[in-house]
Amino acid sequence: MNIPVSFEFFPPKTPEGADKLRATRQALYAHRPEFCSVTFGAGGSTQEGTFSTVKAILGEGVAAASHFSCVGATKATVREQLAALRAMGVQRLVALRGDLPSGYGAGGEFHYASDLVTFIRNETGDAFHIEVAAYPEIHPQARSAEADLQAFAAKVRAGADSAITQYFFNADAYFRFVDDVQRLGVRVPVVPGIMPITSSTQLMRFSDACGAEIPRWIRLRLQGFGDDTASIRSFGLDVMTALCDQLRASGVPGIHFYTMNQAAATSEIIRRLKPA
Ligand code: FAD
Repeated sequence: MNIPVSFEFFPPKTPEGADKLRATRQALYAHRPEFCSVTFGAGGSTQEGTFSTVKAILGEGVAAASHFSCVGATKATVREQLAALRAMGVQRLVALRGDLPSGYGAGGEFHYASDLVTFIRNETGDAFHIEVAAYPEIHPQARSAEADLQAFAAKVRAGADSAITQYFFNADAYFRFVDDVQRLGVRVPVVPGIMPITSSTQLMRFSDACGAEIPRWIRLRLQGFGDDTASIRSFGLDVMTALCDQLRASGVPGIHFYTMNQAAATSEIIRRLKPA
């Protein structure tokens, strides 16, 4: 395995969660990640946890990226948060619109991630490497597939350096997305996001919410395993290792793992990847 990897974590909510995440990070550092990123609750709801986790990663000598969502935010609050991140030594951001929980009025001074990318570039120049989100299977709120491609291209033209995809199980959707954005003149690396399969119910719930399609054969196999977690895990490792091997053979620029704060499945997939 000699492809750049990165790992995504979410900020822990309890001291026990923080201890567990510290152990997870230590286990995953063995794979020499290019960076580790930490999610950010829309509306700034996890700001403290996100920033303290980012700080902990930097303190462990590993490059850290803070996710940063702008829905509901004002220019003043974003300016303050950017200054705080720079003071911590953060050099990488994942710039997002985010989703407010239903019932929250959107408000705020940013409509789309492209507005945030423009603002960050205007305010901070080249201080940050900016990642944006990409949706090979099309963002669930997009007006059309073409509109979503154009929205992605707009984020890159606003100043993004690279992109990480929503997770997917169908490699063709990723390959088509990369071809399509290249035809629009977008040349930044688009790193596939990989979600290890460890729990069937959790995966179904997430996928329905974010618009990631679980192919029928995977869905039915998972349903067939019921509560048999060992079989779900073993099947998930086979499927995701095969997907990563296929992506790597096509020359992807890296692989980003949605670790769900767990090391075992991600580590095992990396360990199983065929030597290049
Ligand atoms: P945008 O790029 O702004 O797109 C949102 C929608 O608006 C799309 O349907 C797009 O087609 C449309 N659109 C964009 N521009 C225009 C325009 N000018 N006119 C009309 N329509 C337009 N969520 C979190 O809350 N916290 C996180 O930490 C987080 N991390 C993520 C990391 C990755 C790698 C990914 C893929 C997603 C992440 N998300 C996170 C989820 C993300 O916030 C949601 O998918 C959100 O709904 C869209 O955010 P975005 O930045 O992709 O939005």
